[in-house]
Amino acid sequence: VTLEFGASRNNIPAISIHPERLLDDLRTLAEFGKTGPGVNRRALSPVDMQAREWLADRLREAGLVAEIDGVGNVIGRSPHARRIVIGSHTDTVPDGGWLDGAMGVIYGLEVARAFMEAGGNGPVGLEIVSFSDEEACFSPMLGSHSYTGELNREVEFARRNENGTLLADAVRAAGLAGRAFARLDPLTHPVYLEAHIEQGPVLEARGIPLGVVTSIIGLRAWLVHFIGQADHAGTTPMAMRRDAGAALCDFAVRIADFCRGMGSEQTVWNGGNIRLIPGAHNVVPARAQYTFSARDPDMEILDRIEQRVMTLSSTVSAVHNVKVEATKTSSIAPAAMHPAIVHMIGEAAKGRGLTAMEMPSGAAHDAMVLARHVPVGMVFIPSIGGRSHDVAEDSTPEDIVNGAHVLADTVTALTRSLQQV
Ligand SMILES: [Zn+2]
Repeated sequence: VTLEFGASRNNIPAISIHPERLLDDLRTLAEFGKTGPGVNRRALSPVDMQAREWLADRLREAGLVAEIDGVGNVIGRSPHARRIVIGSHTDTVPDGGWLDGAMGVIYGLEVARAFMEAGGNGPVGLEIVSFSDEEACFSPMLGSHSYTGELNREVEFARRNENGTLLADAVRAAGLAGRAFARLDPLTHPVYLEAHIEQGPVLEARGIPLGVVTSIIGLRAWLVHFIGQADHAGTTPMAMRRDAGAALCDFAVRIADFCRGMGSEQTVWNGGNIRLIPGAHNVVPARAQYTFSARDPDMEILDRIEQRVMTLSSTVSAVHNVKVEATKTSSIAPAAMHPAIVHMIGEAAKGRGLTAMEMPSGAAHDAMVLARHVPVGMVFIPSIGGRSHDVAEDSTPEDIVNGAHVLADTVTALTRSLQQV
């Protein structure tokens, strides 16, 4: 999708956010499902719905038309025919932090409020969205999949959460049954913006207040299953064993070496689970299962690693005289952010005197889904100690406010320059 920019309409006032109001709203939202310094707000739970109703009311106060749709997405629209979408999510992981998702949504609220206060002028307005169930209580990124038309409702509504509750029943219990489903339309919605905490240690470690996301990294995961033979661990000579465990260890070391040597600087990988069967010190393992995943912003590198997983698993199985089955269990394509928006966010940071760093996102976000449909840009702010998905998650008020200024300035630039259609 191309973005068309026209002559700058400098008569449109700059969006000037109110830092104290932003921080107050963030703290108020954190009261819904508060657990000590953290928050427990699982998607579509009563407290998640209360937070969504609260947000819809704030969006209405800001002068937007707000609704909660059939999967729990909260949407606030300004009266413009074309609207820049700003979104993230207000659900959390179990015992999560107060900023993950929530911060990006409150940025959207504050930017929209400031925009409307300044007159809401120009042909391009705003649409603020809090997506439902980003954190995979029922179905990962449920809200953004629905919003972009990617959701297979038949399949997903039959999914259950950790308590065994059907999504269809949760939607009904939340009072959402029969409601319409809000939809993205690239003609109406030229751009999607999301701000988020980094959820990692890089910005803080480098002393940089702002990250400009260039891409959200892709993922591949495999289950590598070696099948040998159980034998007595004392009586069977080493050369005569068909040791599935030894094959697994050999494979684990060699695939990590390959990723270290042949991946990119941004490649990360993980051996997340090892299972040896039968799993006793006196039995040669008959079967060995290894869960391995790799992530990178570049599809070609993921392809290269995938090829290596396949060739290496058969090489190693031949060496150890075992059989092997390597199965791909997950594949998520990397999502590139739009270069023009990456540039605009960088300029906005410069305008605020803030050093910004271009970086990939190692975590998935709703932006990843939206990027398949419209040009997308993402702003990161530092996470203290890199902590996230935990009650310890935090960022400094200064960093939170700086990020909001940069997002607001990016929106100002876009409302002034996006071509009228
Ligand atoms: Zn998040």
